[in-house]
Amino acid sequence: MDIETNLKKVRAELPSNVRLVAVSKFHPNEAIEEAYATGQRIFGESKVQEMNQKQNILPKDIEWHFIGHLQTNKVKYIAPYVSLIHSVDSMKLLSEINKQALKCDRVIPCLLQIHIAQEETKFGFSFDECTEMLEKGEWNALKNISIQGLMGMASNTDNKQQIRKEFRLLHSYYQVIKNNFFNNNIFRELSIGMSHDYSIAIEEGATLVRVGSKIFGERTY
Ligand SMILES: *Cc1c(COP(=O)(O)O)cnc(C)c1O
Repeated sequence: MDIETNLKKVRAELPSNVRLVAVSKFHPNEAIEEAYATGQRIFGESKVQEMNQKQNILPKDIEWHFIGHLQTNKVKYIAPYVSLIHSVDSMKLLSEINKQALKCDRVIPCLLQIHIAQEETKFGFSFDECTEMLEKGEWNALKNISIQGLMGMASNTDNKQQIRKEFRLLHSYYQVIKNNFFNNNIFRELSIGMSHDYSIAIEEGATLVRVGSKIFGERTY
């Protein structure tokens, strides 16, 4: 199956309020161009250097979403153009994004990544760490970042009930955090769901799904 067919299939399953992030990490520019030709404009990458190389060459109206673990010393390389950073997992990182955004005279949209999976290896705040950071309130002074929602990754399992439970938990955190700290229309994104679980994510309230292999095929690392 080709990229266009795959994209059509995935898009057909998305309600109108859910946006598709085509996760193009480890795939060449040609694959992105193919998806672009079908109208896809949002692409997700997880490595700074790779995203920079692609952004340099590919059309300027692509919205680049950063979805991988982001080191503070690399923020400066993506700050001039990144559309949304899904993976903010510390106050330190948020401060650095603010600092670099200010230098570029931009406001950078961000999501807070929450750890919901059973695996220890995945990044993100716990719910308690996240609310603690928000309660401290320092983030309120950062004028060049805009916190627009939460992101999470479910456990890597075939157990659909487990995945649903984790997404549902994140959705409940999202409601609590929205009510307690934001209560505005800017905080509105829930980035959940990948190739094997985006259908469940949609049922559990996703507004952004991050789909890679289902569109581009398996990655060769
Ligand atoms: C790679 C990646 C995806 C896409 O994974 P697929 O299983 O290929 O759809 C989604 N989200 C994050 C954070 C990723 O790193």
